[in-house]
Amino acid sequence: MLTPEQTNQLKTLLEADLTRLGDHAHKAMEFTMDRDRDRIGRDSMDEATEEEVYSTALRLADRESFLVVKIREAIARIEKGEIDECEECAEPIGFKRLLARPVTTLCFECKSAREQVEADERPE
Ligand SMILES: [Zn+2]
Repeated sequence: MLTPEQTNQLKTLLEADLTRLGDHAHKAMEFTMDRDRDRIGRDSMDEATEEEVYSTALRLADRESFLVVKIREAIARIEKGEIDECEECAEPIGFKRLLARPVTTLCFECKSAREQVEADERPE
């Protein structure tokens, strides 16, 4: 079990991450809107480079909104008192591990096992 101080520390971390990511998502949105405006009456300037920048920005925004969801889920688990409970084996997740990665839902052993499976399924 985590102490109330440890729980608060994790919650502060998660809320700070949420604020930071919220700002980024907003910027990605503005970028998309600017791009649409630029399209009107524009000739074929370096289209390939632009596409690359655009899809990188979108991928980043995708990953960040995925993270935002994970962070909201972690905050919900804190509120239910389940933040340090492994979803696989129900063993407590160590506080150090949670501090390093507050959105985790797996203890170190289960995470390692899962990563092994994922690496086998889709090699990258
Ligand atoms: Zn576990």
